[in-house]
Amino acid sequence: MSDFIEETLEHKIFRDSFRKFVAREITPFVAEWEEKRAVPRSVWLKMGSEGYLCPWLPEEYGGLGLGFEYSVIVNEELLRGNAFGVEVPLHSDVATPYIFSYASPAIKSKWLPKCVSGEAVTCIGLTEPDAGSDLSAIRTRAVKDGDHYVINGQKTFITNGYFADVIVLAVKTDPTAGHRGISLILVETDSPGFHRGRKLNKMGYHMQDTAELFFEDCRVPVGNLLGEEGQGFKYMMQKLQQERLEVSIKCLVLAEEALKEALAYAKVREAFGKPIGNFQYNAFRLAEMATEVQMGRVFLDSLIRDHLAGKEIVQKVSMGKFWLGEMVNRIAYQAVQLHGGYGYMEEYRVCKIYRDVRCLSIFAGTSEIMKLIISRGLGLKP
Ligand SMILES: Cc1cc2nc3c(=O)[nH]c(=O)nc-3n(C[C@H](O)[C@H](O)[C@H](O)COP(=O)(O)OP(=O)(O)OC[C@H]3O[C@@H](n4cnc5c(N)ncnc54)[C@H](O)[C@@H]3O)c2cc1C
Repeated sequence: MSDFIEETLEHKIFRDSFRKFVAREITPFVAEWEEKRAVPRSVWLKMGSEGYLCPWLPEEYGGLGLGFEYSVIVNEELLRGNAFGVEVPLHSDVATPYIFSYASPAIKSKWLPKCVSGEAVTCIGLTEPDAGSDLSAIRTRAVKDGDHYVINGQKTFITNGYFADVIVLAVKTDPTAGHRGISLILVETDSPGFHRGRKLNKMGYHMQDTAELFFEDCRVPVGNLLGEEGQGFKYMMQKLQQERLEVSIKCLVLAEEALKEALAYAKVREAFGKPIGNFQYNAFRLAEMATEVQMGRVFLDSLIRDHLAGKEIVQKVSMGKFWLGEMVNRIAYQAVQLHGGYGYMEEYRVCKIYRDVRCLSIFAGTSEIMKLIISRGLGLKP
C-alpha cells in the first residue's frame, strides 16, 4: 500500500470504493478485452459517472477538484486489479492536463466536461515513425490557411489512439526552428483529413488500443492551438514530468504484484519434498526481490510527496523512471523463473505481467534518455 501521504479517511473511502469498482467492472473482463484488444466505452462512461476520471479537474468542468493523490490511487488500484492497459492514467493525468493548462476557454468548456464523464477519451501524439526519442525531429507539419491549420503527417505507437476522440498533437509550425518550431494543437478525431491506421499488434499490454494516426490536409480551426505557437516543446518538457511519475507508479506497483505472485507460489509449490521457496537459493532470490521492491517504494513515495508539494522533480523522476523501469523487468523475469513452466502459461498472472512490463522502460522516454537527462543534471555533456 502506498504511504505517499498519510491517507485520510476520504482517501481510504475513495480507494475502497474504486477497488470494489475494479473488482466488479474490470477484473472479470480482462481476458476478454485482452483478446479483443479493446476496452469498451461503456466502462469509461461508468468510471466517469462515479467520478474516477480526471478527479483533479475543478468543479466548473464537472471534476471533483481533488489532488493528484487521487490519481495515484486510481493508477495503483487498476494495476492491482490486473488492468494494465485500461489507460485511464494516460487520459486523466497525461493528455487532459494539456487541455486544462493551454486550451482556450471555449475548447476547455467544450471538452473538459466530456473528459470527466468519459464521453471523450484523449490521447497524446508525439512519436512518429522516424522520431521518438528525438522529438525535435518530428515532421508532422501544420500550416496556417486563413482561420485553420492544415496538418500533414503521421504518428505511431499512440496509446488510446484507436478510440480517442481528441488528440493533443505535436506538430512543426516552423520547420526551420528545431525544437522551437514545435507547437501543440488539439485535433478532434472527426476533423476532415484525419484517419486512423492499424491498431498495433504488440508484445503485451494487449487491452490497449495503441494505434497509428494519419493527417492528410487535416483542417483544424486556429483556435485549437494549445498555448502559443513555438512553445510546444517547452510545454511537453513541463508535462512529461507527471507522465514519467505516472509510469514510475506503474513500474513499482507491477513489481509489487509480481513479487506477491512469486512469493505465494514459492510457498506452495513443492520440489524434492519441500516448498521451492525454502531452498536457500530461492529464499535469497526472493529476499533480493523484496529488497529492490521496498527500496523502490520508498523512492517512489518520496517522489510522489515532492510532486504533491509542487517541487521540481526533473532529475529525481528521471532516476525513478529509469531505475524502476529496469527493476520491474528484473522482478518480472525472476517471478516467471520461480514459477517454472507454469510461469510461461497464460493462466498464471506473472505471464501477463512479464509481457506487459517490457514497454515500461521504453515509453515516456527510454531508460537511455532518462540517463541522458540525469547525466546532464550532473553537469556532464554526453
Ligand atoms: C506501448 C507503447 C505505447 C506508447 N505510447 C505513446 C503515446 O501515447 N504517445 C506517443 O507520442 N508515443 C508513444 N510511444 C512511443 C514511445 O514514447 C517511443 O517508442 C519512445 O520514446 C522511443 O522512441 P523510438 O521508439 O522512436 O526509439 P528510438 O528513439 O529510435 O530509440 C531506439 C533506441 O536508441 C536509443 N537512443 C536514442 N537516442 C539515444 C541517445 N541519445 N543516447 C543513447 N541511446 C539513445 C533508445 O533509448 C532506444 O534504445 C509508445 C510506445 C510504446 C511501445
